Amino acid sequence: MNNIFSNIDAVKHMTAAISREADPERAYRIMEVCGTHTMSIARYGIASLLPANISLVSGPGCPVCVTSQADIDNSIDLAYGAARKLDSGAVQITTFGDMLRVTGSDGRSLYNAKAERNNVHIIYSPLDTLSLAKDNPDKHYVFMAVGFETTTPMAAGLVHTAAQQGISNISVLSMCKTMPAAFDLLLADPNAKIDGFLCPGNVSIITGSSIYEPIVAAKKAAAIVGFEPMDILSGVLEIIRQINKNDYHVANTYTRAASSDGNKKAQALTNKIFEPCDARWRGLGWLKGSGMAIRYEYMDYDAISLYNLNTRREEQPTQCRCGDILRGYIAPSACPLFGKACTPMTAVGPCMVSSEGACAAYYKYRI
Ligand code: SF4
Repeated sequence: MNNIFSNIDAVKHMTAAISREADPERAYRIMEVCGTHTMSIARYGIASLLPANISLVSGPGCPVCVTSQADIDNSIDLAYGAARKLDSGAVQITTFGDMLRVTGSDGRSLYNAKAERNNVHIIYSPLDTLSLAKDNPDKHYVFMAVGFETTTPMAAGLVHTAAQQGISNISVLSMCKTMPAAFDLLLADPNAKIDGFLCPGNVSIITGSSIYEPIVAAKKAAAIVGFEPMDILSGVLEIIRQINKNDYHVANTYTRAASSDGNKKAQALTNKIFEPCDARWRGLGWLKGSGMAIRYEYMDYDAISLYNLNTRREEQPTQCRCGDILRGYIAPSACPLFGKACTPMTAVGPCMVSSEGACAAYYKYRI
């Protein structure tokens, strides 16, 4: 730890300030909403630097983890050619690597499809789909769009560019989500018992700070934070201060990247291609207006309508406790399968598969 955001002396100074600020007579429950925060907290052992009466709990901000089983099943069906109206030989899937090992209800995954059918391609940007489609005009490429406000503009950029360039052998299977409905759910949940939120800096870069206003209106603390140790500790200190003073406001401790207005160009591009829809979250259920559907004007690029995918199919029950973890009810180690039946090599749920998953973080860093 040696850059200015992780300098060991600065970290000691900050943790001492948190210890002075925290009231030993009360407990503080702070949720880190973003999966990248979960990983940083685990990697740097940040929870162990805090007084015992401050607990950090993971939230629903890992995009792969909140993707419903039904959406996963749709993706795998598509790869295996089981979806209706499908010319199975020609369909190719493009996806980020995290989605590959998440298993469907029948135990298969995109990884299996990749091995058996050679039609699943790992990409590093949605725009990689464009070059694949241009090079192989006889095949149709479906991009698995999973993510929050941070990544949805990239999926929008893919559709927009394909439309501008007249590339028709591309579509997007949108499983994109937005954060506000998840915050509403957590704020209304008496079992979650969250005192304050470390708000995701990456989402905030796009959205600005206004999406967090309902948090402070509900008299909970909110701090927009980056991903280095000093960022996270600054956010914790800010939250403790807000709680102690009963003075709730959206504090931005990540001003080097996030502004109050966000990225207007990215917002405009997203709104041009997508519109809000209801979406099902793993463990959280259907949340009104929390999904992003491709607008009618761009329906030629919408894999859901193109392949007649059933977004309301039954959710299959599993033993996985990801839902309880995403609501902050339990820590990953409280899942009976953690580290036994469920490990990164034998993952039962997406929270163990995803590089941003709470179970993966706890397992990797032996928390
Ligand atoms: S340890 Fe595995 S089964 Fe348990 S909640 Fe995490 S991902 Fe699901």
